[in-house]
Amino acid sequence: MDTITQLKKIKKQLHESGFKLTPQRESTLLVLLENEKDHLAAEEIYVRVKEKAPEIGLATVYRTLEILTELKVVNKVSFNDGLSRYDLRKDGAKHFHHHLLCLECGQIEEIEDDLLLEVEKVVDKQYGFLVKDHRLTFHGICRNCRAEKNQL
Ligand SMILES: [Zn+2]
Ligand SMILES: [Zn+2]
Repeated sequence: MDTITQLKKIKKQLHESGFKLTPQRESTLLVLLENEKDHLAAEEIYVRVKEKAPEIGLATVYRTLEILTELKVVNKVSFNDGLSRYDLRKDGAKHFHHHLLCLECGQIEEIEDDLLLEVEKVVDKQYGFLVKDHRLTFHGICRNCRAEKNQL
């Protein structure tokens, strides 16, 4: 799905939940869509939004990110540096995607497959807990770093 279609869809979702998408909020959303793979922190988003909408304040960006988190358009994640980062949920994804964090180069890769259905069944059965979502980050060494090491 292209950025404009995605933007339209999220706009509709916001509208249905009683939120208006002001131009500043729209710029914030656009930055998220354009940097989908980057897992940006609020301050990084702010810097990029400012390029599109110089008049925007950090508080507006924070508030927009809060609303988008509430509506589950984005998920808050944090990796090794402890910063809250914002990550778009994939369209129609029932569960939040998983991450592979490389301890050597810091690269973050995403896994789209759920892979956890069996685990969820066990949790339900043994703990009587109904899983609605989960966060999963694997810490390890990525394909590239492994290849580099083998060459040395
Ligand atoms: Zn992600
Ligand atoms: Zn790596």
